[in-house]
Amino acid sequence: MQDYFKEFPSQTGFFGKWGGSYIPEVLTKEMEKINDAYFSISKSHEFISELREIRKHFQGRPTPVYFCRRLSEMYGGRIYLKREDLNHSGAHKLNHCMGEGLLAKYMGKKKLIAETGAGQHGVALATAAAYFGLECDIYMGEVDIAKQHPNVVRMQLLGANVIPVTRGLKTLKEAVDEAFEAYLKDPVNTIYCIGSVVGPHPFPMLVRDFQRVVGIEAREQFLEMTGELPDAVTACVGGGSNAMGIFSGFLRDTDVELFGIEPLGRGKKIGDHAASLNFGTEGILHGMKTYILQDEKGQPQPVYSIASGLDYPGSGPEHCMLKDNGRVKYTTADDNDCLDAFYRLSRYEGIIPALESSHAVAFALKYAKENPKKSILVNLSGRGDKDIDYVVENFGTGDKYLK
Ligand SMILES: *Cc1c(COP(=O)(O)O)cnc(C)c1O
Repeated sequence: MQDYFKEFPSQTGFFGKWGGSYIPEVLTKEMEKINDAYFSISKSHEFISELREIRKHFQGRPTPVYFCRRLSEMYGGRIYLKREDLNHSGAHKLNHCMGEGLLAKYMGKKKLIAETGAGQHGVALATAAAYFGLECDIYMGEVDIAKQHPNVVRMQLLGANVIPVTRGLKTLKEAVDEAFEAYLKDPVNTIYCIGSVVGPHPFPMLVRDFQRVVGIEAREQFLEMTGELPDAVTACVGGGSNAMGIFSGFLRDTDVELFGIEPLGRGKKIGDHAASLNFGTEGILHGMKTYILQDEKGQPQPVYSIASGLDYPGSGPEHCMLKDNGRVKYTTADDNDCLDAFYRLSRYEGIIPALESSHAVAFALKYAKENPKKSILVNLSGRGDKDIDYVVENFGTGDKYLK
């Protein structure tokens, strides 16, 4: 485990048999350039100290670890949150976006290109673009644009172009395709900034490395608060960046159980969920080998979750490896579990969580009830301001749920 981060991924981007780089020839060269730049630039003293300054003075890091006193009393165990919702711009995504933006600056790029699902990655990247003085094009499915209006407006205020994607199901998957195509048209002046630990090498590594700060901080803070490590750590998994961020701090602590929570949406039927690590099969998606929700012909299946940041038909390749070797257990929470946790954390702790993060909170509540002597640390990946209109319009303010 000592050399885990050197060993994985391999030089060609593999986590065991997962990941790699299944992309057209033209793209291979660009990915190699990004990879080389990453290795030469990100290890320099200048880059590291600039990123450290940004994290401290712009992002507001370190984010705190918080003990949920009321929920712990109600459920039995000890529930803690790593407060990534307090990151500037409201989610963990700024951790890798500032890293990607800084890399783009050092590489002399003029424009950042990306897709977004819930709008969180778009907002985080638009924030980075504004900070560094770079242009920013964000591709977003029309369905998500309608659901996430406040985030669309935020991106525009930050100076980004929000480009609606109208093909297919008009959500995250199609937005990834279109963003990639746009990037391929001008790879010299632009850089593609992926929103999670997915895509071809080097992105799963690069995004993980920029997210590692979450796990490093959380481990230290938890030790300082309690004198011990948590019994369990949990995070929601869409592509898997917030989960890799916090898990990476505890991978070598083999006594700490790790749980990745995928969205079960409306149920187990295909099209009703987005739990690719739980129900997917091996395949190639967006340039990587991963577990995919796919049909017999290898076509990605429609996915659904109440949390649009989680509705992606694949997962980061590192998660596939950690599932196979058993270091992380992957389980699910459905829309109802998610809403229940959303309302409870709001009302009993004064923290309105993102619907994505609520999946991990739901698991923590269950874990606490079943393990009254144990502690669990949740990566609270984002705040729920973006979700409140949607939730209240469709499900009310929680009185029904909290009975
Ligand atoms: C995007 C998002 C996620 C899902 O992305 P991962 O890469 O799986 O972390 C989770 N939580 C929030 C708040 C998000 O915005």
